[in-house]
Amino acid sequence: MSFRIGLGIDFHQLIAGRDLWLGGIKIEHTKGALGHSDADVLLHAICDALLGAACLGDIGLHFPDTSNDYKNIDSKILLQKTSILIGEAGYKVGNIDSTVCLEEPKLKPYISAMQKTIAEILLIKENDVSIKATTSEKMGFVGREEGVAAYATVLLIPFE
Ligand SMILES: [Zn+2]
Repeated sequence: MSFRIGLGIDFHQLIAGRDLWLGGIKIEHTKGALGHSDADVLLHAICDALLGAACLGDIGLHFPDTSNDYKNIDSKILLQKTSILIGEAGYKVGNIDSTVCLEEPKLKPYISAMQKTIAEILLIKENDVSIKATTSEKMGFVGREEGVAAYATVLLIPFE
């Protein structure tokens, strides 16, 4: 077995009347992400990157949005479950690099708490969880504050 790389991408609509969860942390904002679960776009992108690296399909396959089991579920639980699948496949997480694309608010005050939360779930160090934030310079659905996107890459290392 050798190193495996994975890529995850996710998008959610932003609407009034929902909480905004990113990286397992609740963000103060006037809008939140719409979804079947808590719609944590960053955790979903990381789950998909982990599953992709292990060639285990995607988040929709393992946690279908048609299932009541996952209605409004805390995505930290999905990340935990994904982590178990990766372990069963014989891998541990090397590092993660990710970017959240969001026009407002600024995420800098939250990044450290997100890193800590994700690192604790995946049993890795905080500096193995890179989280970056960018706007889309007022362009497109992110720029119009209609939605949020996240991209993640991960490296998996075999246990042996
Ligand atoms: Zn999602």
